[in-house]
Amino acid sequence: MTTPDQTRQELTELLRQMREYAAYSGELGIQTIAGEVTIPSVESTASSVTQVDVPQTVTPGVSTPLHAHRPAAAVARTPAKSAPASVPQDNLFGQVAAPTPSLPSSTESLEDIWRDIGDCTRCGLCAGRTQVVNTHGNRTARLMFVGEAPGADEDAQGKPFVGRAGQLLTKMIEAMGMKREDVIIGNVNRCRPPGNRQPTLEEAAICRPFLFREIATVRPEVIVVMGNTALRNLLEIKAGISSVRGRFHDYHGIPVMPTFHPAYLLRDPSKKRETWEDLKKVMEHLDRNSASPTGAQASSLA
Ligand code: URA
Repeated sequence: MTTPDQTRQELTELLRQMREYAAYSGELGIQTIAGEVTIPSVESTASSVTQVDVPQTVTPGVSTPLHAHRPAAAVARTPAKSAPASVPQDNLFGQVAAPTPSLPSSTESLEDIWRDIGDCTRCGLCAGRTQVVNTHGNRTARLMFVGEAPGADEDAQGKPFVGRAGQLLTKMIEAMGMKREDVIIGNVNRCRPPGNRQPTLEEAAICRPFLFREIATVRPEVIVVMGNTALRNLLEIKAGISSVRGRFHDYHGIPVMPTFHPAYLLRDPSKKRETWEDLKKVMEHLDRNSASPTGAQASSLA
């Protein structure tokens, strides 16, 4: 029988989950749900309003193999198809996955988001950057990669992952049987931190709502988070990459695979084997939901 104490605990947990959802929605720029509930703004940076339950508009990208990105007509569908089992979370209800609210539909285009970012001065990183480095790639991509922040090469060229780590990322994508143009690649922060230091929690919190809005617009079927900054900012968990990699997690209904950052792989190539295991799981998931297989070209990462 349920005791009053247990009931109180369950209600408290439900309230906590509702608050968490409101905070997430606020970061996505959503201020109203179904015209009934007004969500207080949690991030002053996410200024545009996104309504839920409205079909999104997506500009189709270049033509690439079926497994790599979706035909334009399929893009408007909201949920990711059959999501792989994600990691169960321990909560007051026992070993039950917490009910993650699915990603609300977005009516804004990537251009709308980039226009909103503009010549951003919302955090101190603007002082040392050459330019803002926005997410880049195929806007109908089934697969998205998320890293930390631009380095010197990205700052100079205005595109994410174009330096040495980026070249390794390109090899990883090609080993998966895809081309770089098939996927979309972004970072938690869009301005180069001085000396390539990790962005602070505050800098990440200011910038990440734009990434969340891009995800809501593109709606990839799988997201690969590379390294701790991407992991912790997308999934809001404290654990490190080594302990959570290799298992799918959940971002509003989108399966998320954490793996090592390519810059880390350059420093410790022995970790490429585990990274490849993680990427194979991503390919298996995409293949399960695709008309054509990914056709990986390598049995390991060179
Ligand atoms: N490292 C990142 O995390 N992002 C880039 O764009 C380049 C290097």
